Amino acid sequence: MPDVRTAPDFRTAIVTGSTSGIGLAVARSLAEAGHAVMMNGFGDTGQIEADRSAIEAETGSPVAYHGADMSDPVQIADLVAATTARFGQIDIVVNNAGIQTVAPIEEFPVDRYNLILAINMSAAWHLCRATFGGMKARGWGRVINVASAHGLVASPYKSAYVMAKHAVVGLTKTLALEGAEHGVTANAICPGYVLTPLVQAQIPETAKARGITEDEVIRDVLLAAQPTKSFVQPGQIGALAAFLCTPAASQITGTALPVDGGWTAH
Ligand code: NAD
Repeated sequence: MPDVRTAPDFRTAIVTGSTSGIGLAVARSLAEAGHAVMMNGFGDTGQIEADRSAIEAETGSPVAYHGADMSDPVQIADLVAATTARFGQIDIVVNNAGIQTVAPIEEFPVDRYNLILAINMSAAWHLCRATFGGMKARGWGRVINVASAHGLVASPYKSAYVMAKHAVVGLTKTLALEGAEHGVTANAICPGYVLTPLVQAQIPETAKARGITEDEVIRDVLLAAQPTKSFVQPGQIGALAAFLCTPAASQITGTALPVDGGWTAH
């Protein structure tokens, strides 16, 4: 029975890009569930430490931070080494770090294309490559890839992002098959629009690319795609990630789970 441990049901997690938005909510949810969490991401040092210590104090779970740049495989290796040194092993990997650029493909900056693929796609592969063997050997593991509705469907002007997110769904399916007999599941969460700094930043870019106002972007582009006409909350993604780490979710693997207010039902 590799998937059901007696209390305390204590696992250790890395959540990439958890200094903001969805990742921060996932880190909080996993800590609330009793797991140790290694946070990662960029931002103001004081704010990161305030968030880290607040989650640790409020949940009672150990929470650490490592500032690896997920576009750099050497720094990813260091993140894995530091997490292993701190927590002993890595049971849960949440590949969440991501960036976005909105532009027609003929104007798309090549440096942004390369960076989007490195952070949104290759980082997940490198982190899984470094941690998957340990999960298999111990007979328990969870890979949770924060993909996107754009891992399932496309929107114009997001060529690199849509490409990377579709690739992450493919990685998810592959790892589900590789882990299936070893107690290791792999799933992608595919959020619709969540009002985080990532989305706020693309509103002016989308307005420019489409030649419309920022209010029109929110109403006619972002929430037009989302039948509920409301943004997904970061905590809703955190709650699903925590559920995927429970014994109840042990047969959920290889999926791409939309949390998108009905967007991909179209
Ligand atoms: P966000 O901008 O609020 O947070 C992104 C996080 O990634 C931050 O912690 C940032 O520091 C980190 N990050 C960026 N570059 C990094 C790098 N090189 N190395 C390490 N960390 C890095 O964005 P968010 O909306 O919370 O997005 C999180 C994930 O959710 C992304 O993968 C995004 O594609 C995905 N997503 C977001 C939405 C949405 O509507 N917000 C929808 C679908 C999917």
